[in-house]
Amino acid sequence: CGIVGYIGNQDAKEILLAGLEKLEYRGYDSAGIAVRGEKDTDLFKVKGRIANLREAVDESVSANIGIGHTRWATHGEPSETNAHPHQSTSGRFTLVHNGVIENFEELKSEYLQDVNFVSETDTEIIVQLIEQFEKETGNALEAFRKTVSLLHGSYALAVLDRDQKDTVFVAKNKSPLLVGLGEEFNVVASDSMAMLQVTDQFVELMDEEIVLVANDRVEIQKLDGTKVERDPFVAEIDA
Ligand code: GLU
Repeated sequence: CGIVGYIGNQDAKEILLAGLEKLEYRGYDSAGIAVRGEKDTDLFKVKGRIANLREAVDESVSANIGIGHTRWATHGEPSETNAHPHQSTSGRFTLVHNGVIENFEELKSEYLQDVNFVSETDTEIIVQLIEQFEKETGNALEAFRKTVSLLHGSYALAVLDRDQKDTVFVAKNKSPLLVGLGEEFNVVASDSMAMLQVTDQFVELMDEEIVLVANDRVEIQKLDGTKVERDPFVAEIDA
């Protein structure tokens, strides 16, 4: 139901949790964050309130990159297992998704026959497809692009790649998604409200774009790889 992401030099988990709290008004049944520390990606997920998630998050984890999600279940009951973020089998890719993938059954039987699924969500096929195509092409960006081009339905996505500590991969279709611009950090959010505490400069993303978000750079590409330039707008706090 809501997505947040952070890459920069501050404590990612605090910015993600604060962002998810701002998205609480949209309604949700579970929530989670993934943060990328020195070695690995740490996942924290709960059924129920962001306050519970806050308690579940290990205070000692220090990370400058992360993604977060509030879930309104469409496929699979509300549970800790079905809560996002979801990970590929090897643990390399970690993803949050808003929306509904209409052709997930078809994609599963066409490309993911040998994969053991952990959750009942439509979402998990996305992260497993990225892993599958990365194995075939050896290129995570190519794998992400191919995955996105196969998805039918609505989605806002943010993905972490354990092997690329400097980038959050983002894409959307029919679900809103913004990139917020900061000094030596950038953020991702489905609603500017989630990140107004850190920036008021946002770039709107369009359908069928792939976006690479680093701490000092935001690169928007079309699915064919062509670069896109777009100026930020200033978000105002609604009274
Ligand atoms: N369809 C996904 C799920 O059921 C995402 C739902 C949402 O947008 O929160 O997990």
